[in-house]
Amino acid sequence: MNPCRRYEESVIPFLHQELGRKKVITLQKHLSQCERCRGYLDELGHVFQVIENHGAFNCNAQVTGVRRPLYPVTQPFRAE
Ligand SMILES: [Zn+2]
Repeated sequence: MNPCRRYEESVIPFLHQELGRKKVITLQKHLSQCERCRGYLDELGHVFQVIENHGAFNCNAQVTGVRRPLYPVTQPFRAE
């Protein structure tokens, strides 16, 4: 899954919570409308979580258990 070129470089800092507030809002707004970027972020998020859990690989629950949401996309963005 490839993200839109324009947002590609925002995704990594976003995952590390190093993205500026303004860009986060722009990216979240875009994510609420873009399946491709959401899929990309989801894939990356999974990769990062696997790295995060690397020390706990013997515990299957850590790998296959419920994943916490990385970003709030449940509400469609409303421009008001
Ligand atoms: Zn996109």
